[in-house]
Amino acid sequence: TTFHDLGLSKNVLDALAALGFDKPTPIQEKAIPLVLAGNDLIGLAQTGTGKTAAFGLPMIERLLAEGRRPDPRNIRALILAPTRELVNQIADNLRDFVKKTPLRVVTVVGGASINKQSEMLSRGTDILVATPGRLLDLVARKSVTLTQGRYLVLDEADQMLDLGFIHDLRKISKLVPKNRQTLLFSATMPKLIAELAGEYLTNPLKVEV
Ligand code: AMP
Repeated sequence: TTFHDLGLSKNVLDALAALGFDKPTPIQEKAIPLVLAGNDLIGLAQTGTGKTAAFGLPMIERLLAEGRRPDPRNIRALILAPTRELVNQIADNLRDFVKKTPLRVVTVVGGASINKQSEMLSRGTDILVATPGRLLDLVARKSVTLTQGRYLVLDEADQMLDLGFIHDLRKISKLVPKNRQTLLFSATMPKLIAELAGEYLTNPLKVEV
């Protein structure tokens, strides 16, 4: 199987070729067609399996197909992750994928200057990668709006719960419209994650590697 077989278009395929991604990993092979088709998805996968590209590539593909954002302050895709390191790692990957496109990726994390982050957001972003607490602070300041979000990704969901982000996740999920596509990735599937998935995903398909 090639990335071309999975339904990705030239813009994205060129970026992958430049990065030396020759063929999809198992999670990418399974997840990309399902996400492109618009499904909600639960992915059971560890870091290192290529899961960032598994959700990022089809999401980027769909954003490009949808055309320009109507309101630059209203983000189109939101990715939540538990730590600053993970947020930066995800954003670095996504920036590699969108290099040849007009899409913009911004990160917000706790422990860094909120004013600087607010300023970055004021320039508009398509894809926002965030830790939950800082995101809510910026929403409260009206630095960012989630009311037109079309994609929500919860990455390392089990770790986010371990770090006590459950209430933040519940609040954030309510701020993103219901007619969104939601993807949840987790290395393990404890009861609370299954509950969270039941609340915030619609007819999710399950992918495991
Ligand atoms: P992740 O599990 O998303 O953190 O990815 C682990 C690492 O594998 C990252 O450095 C990616 O850039 C790299 N990677 C992901 N997918 C592929 C692929 N299909 N071919 C080569 N490298 C990849």
